[in-house]
Amino acid sequence: MDSVQSRIAQVQAQIDAASARAGRAPVEITLVAVSKARQAQEIRAAFQAGLGHFGENYLTEAIPKLDALADLPITWHFIGAIQSNKTREIAARFQWVHTIDRDKIARRLSDQRGDRDPLDVLIQVNLDAEPTKAGVLPHALAELVDQVVAYPRLRLRGLMAIPRPTDDAGQQRAAFERLHQLFDAHRAGNTWDTLSMGMSADFAPAIAAGATMVRIGTAIFGPRPTLVPRAGERM
Ligand SMILES: *Cc1c(COP(=O)(O)O)cnc(C)c1O
Repeated sequence: MDSVQSRIAQVQAQIDAASARAGRAPVEITLVAVSKARQAQEIRAAFQAGLGHFGENYLTEAIPKLDALADLPITWHFIGAIQSNKTREIAARFQWVHTIDRDKIARRLSDQRGDRDPLDVLIQVNLDAEPTKAGVLPHALAELVDQVVAYPRLRLRGLMAIPRPTDDAGQQRAAFERLHQLFDAHRAGNTWDTLSMGMSADFAPAIAAGATMVRIGTAIFGPRPTLVPRAGERM
């Protein structure tokens, strides 16, 4: 039966196998279930099947689900593009943000975090310098790391990237290894411990290359229903 429980068990077994091949312990890898376009009750079922971390891309879609699931101790990750008029609510409602790509966004998130625990953040890198993709270019990463590490209400944990899609396993692995090299070269502060890379199609090579967080949607929840943007809302 193709239930969310059985798919989670399958994904977890694949994470375990990829970790074993890489000589790593599966506990080093946090599975973030990407729940964009999924209903609150599907997220609740995945939580009941053992998952505790969920990732959302669109704030207006996420807020009603966060409200509906407020009784569960879920760790929420924001993994979408960030418009500056959305930072206040992101800072208030999420524990992690994977998609810091400019100083202005980092400054606003820190200012708006208030007296809550510092927000755990990752800098998104545009590894292949793709014009349509978010993220800081590799050559500008050092400057952004210096800026983000100085904000008092942010805890800079590491890097995130979505490499250019390819079916070639060697190319997948090589891109993840480039991100790992940037991670080693820009190590900043004593909370630098997270490399967020790998999705449904490529989490095994990401784990081989050192991922500590994988973001998996389709392999857990099945194919996504098409999203219809709300009027005036950039998706
Ligand atoms: C949608 C999304 C994912 C998950 O993609 P799947 O292919 O469904 O696993 C991971 N990361 C980000 C940033 C996403 O937007």
